[in-house]
Amino acid sequence: ALTIGIVGLPNVGKSTLFNALTRNQVLAANYPFATIEPNVGVVNLPDPRLKQLAEIFGSQRLLPAPVSFVDIAGIVKGASEGEGLGNKFLANIREAEAIAQVVRVFDDPDVIHVDGKVDPRSDMETINTELILADLQTIENAIPRIEKEVKIKKRDAAELAAIKAAQAVLERGDTIFSSITSDKLEMEHLKELSLLTAKPFIYVFNADEGILGSPEKQDELRSLVAPADAIFLDAKLESDLVELDEEEAREMLEMNGQDESGLDQLARVGFHTLGLQTYLTAGPKETRAWTIHQGDTAPQAAGVIHSDFQRGFIKAEVVSFDDLIEAGSMAEAKSRGKVRIEGKEYVMADGDVVEFRFNV
Ligand code: GDP
Repeated sequence: ALTIGIVGLPNVGKSTLFNALTRNQVLAANYPFATIEPNVGVVNLPDPRLKQLAEIFGSQRLLPAPVSFVDIAGIVKGASEGEGLGNKFLANIREAEAIAQVVRVFDDPDVIHVDGKVDPRSDMETINTELILADLQTIENAIPRIEKEVKIKKRDAAELAAIKAAQAVLERGDTIFSSITSDKLEMEHLKELSLLTAKPFIYVFNADEGILGSPEKQDELRSLVAPADAIFLDAKLESDLVELDEEEAREMLEMNGQDESGLDQLARVGFHTLGLQTYLTAGPKETRAWTIHQGDTAPQAAGVIHSDFQRGFIKAEVVSFDDLIEAGSMAEAKSRGKVRIEGKEYVMADGDVVEFRFNV
């Protein structure tokens, strides 16, 4: 399953946010793996299409796509040199597919800040510097070996050049992820190094009303982290929200001037940052969203359900969500010619409603 690692300085609200994620147990029963690991929290990707489909098919239950978050613990200055949790913590991040960095922007004199004052710019710099230093170390360790391989023609010189270009980015203090386009970095040559700052970043600003109510202040913070995505939430409010039923939670959000919970936002933005999309299956038993990468083909999508489906793939019966809803039933969609038979080469679209045919 895809996971997003949560990082940040101490006392910025990581545990508060993470508790909200793990107490968000509505779905844990459906995804038992989520409860096994105490440091994994899961959020449903909000998807109003599921309910509409379930009505058409009379499905007994709805299964949204899960997005998992791993709590990775706080970074302090010097983490890349083994301070605090040091290397163990860095090993944990390496396994995550994206990094959500929690940044404190809430004012509260009762909550001590490790550096004495709330300063998001400097906090992000502290975290990013540690990640950058760790990546520089990785590159410095790898270069002698790669140079040798180039010399004996076991490896293309272009790979070494790509790695040196990445090194230059890190040396000037930028993350790889924020420089992919500006520096035309050749990411396929960097893959084997599993660089921490090459992972997609999401900035989670833990905010108070002053910022949640001010689009201008949000834009200011957004511009600091672009091209990475940013979301704004109140971790304390989120941990209260998960205790409420749906109706009460909606009212509380409205009272705070928001139309979507921070956890829902986090799932949505995380999904987007990771380049994912969903397709749907539906029947009387369940309507379900399945997670695939943008650009995946029909057999790859089938493989998410079961590897046998991918191996024995014959064809897929596909109707777009909008066409199906407009028709009102599968039978009507078919008679309108909206249900297509697609083969191995078909590239999936978000919201495809699919039935696979396969050999076993
Ligand atoms: P961590 O060290 O990053 O895991 O931070 P914690 O989640 O333990 O939070 C540190 C302190 O800040 C706790 O006392 C929280 O109750 C408080 N806190 C967390 N989020 C917020 C918030 O959004 N607003 C306010 N006022 N306090 C918060």
